Amino acid sequence: MNVVKFRNYIMAPIAVLFFFSLVSLVTWLAGENFLTIINYIYIGIFASLGMVLYAKLPKRKKNRGRKISMYAIGGLLFLVMGVLGRIDGQIEGFFFYILAGITAGTVSHYLVAKIIGPVFLNRGWCGWGCWTIMILDVFPYKRSDGRLPEKFGWIRYLHFAMSFGLVLLLWFGFDYGISNQKWDIAGMYWFLGGNIVYYGIGIGLVLLLKDNRAFCKYVCPVSVIIKSSSVFSLLRIKGKSSLCDHCNACTATCPMNIRIPDYIVAGQRVVSTECVMCLTCINTCPTGALEASFGFDLGGKELLQPKSTLPVSIKNSI
Ligand code: SF4
Ligand code: SF4
Ligand code: SF4
Repeated sequence: MNVVKFRNYIMAPIAVLFFFSLVSLVTWLAGENFLTIINYIYIGIFASLGMVLYAKLPKRKKNRGRKISMYAIGGLLFLVMGVLGRIDGQIEGFFFYILAGITAGTVSHYLVAKIIGPVFLNRGWCGWGCWTIMILDVFPYKRSDGRLPEKFGWIRYLHFAMSFGLVLLLWFGFDYGISNQKWDIAGMYWFLGGNIVYYGIGIGLVLLLKDNRAFCKYVCPVSVIIKSSSVFSLLRIKGKSSLCDHCNACTATCPMNIRIPDYIVAGQRVVSTECVMCLTCINTCPTGALEASFGFDLGGKELLQPKSTLPVSIKNSI
């Protein structure tokens, strides 16, 4: 019998709504334009609504909650920021705009969703708003049978360094950047070009590794920034040791292959910076041992499930 109560989830949507209300207030006090303020209210409403729907909908329909949130947030940002606004929301754009001293648009998006946001909301962007995983997660491999060896996780750091290096080279070596008169349309080309590359690599990895989150685990350069901030996250998954019977069902369904029961045994919340706050483990736990919680503990201790090490009986029984 599934004993998961709504209260096990509730801290996540409350934290999201509170955070984005705070961001809207700060942007209003800072004299930002009306559209920016509305944008943050909109994101807060849809992310928290998606989480509440995920918690309340019957098991087979739960993913609709996440889809509503992802399409409403990731889809809208893709269209309004990248295509209509011609702003490069990819990581290269972030570097370009910082060099140009332009803080609106991409830089403020990164600040809220990927730098300050994860300190409050963990990797909520990765679970509920990202326009990359919004597409990759339509494939049927929502669970994987584990992580590739640790060295593959370094590809994303290399990718990050290459993106930064490319921008520096263009900016300082070729005098190319925001000062270019054609930058407006170039921003859109960078954005669409970057996304085509990400989707291409991401879909290739999904099919090769049978894992919707393979791009997130091994290649995404944005995760380098988000992981660094989520070390300090206040919002995390917490397990009650008295209720956990170590069935490992949560680990088997965690899209990021986190060994959740091992954190419970260690007396810690799930401090892994791989957690994308998708809430799947809360939904899976048959004893209601897991909940979203607010607190303070430094993250960074990674307990991850290597490939094919879960007993077949567990994988087949969930
Ligand atoms: S790791 Fe990257 S691709 Fe994956 S959800 Fe996060 S930002 Fe998106
Ligand atoms: S531990 Fe795994 S399943 Fe649970 S919220 Fe984090 S990523 Fe999702
Ligand atoms: S699913 Fe629940 S009971 Fe089973 S190991 Fe995870 S936290 Fe413990």
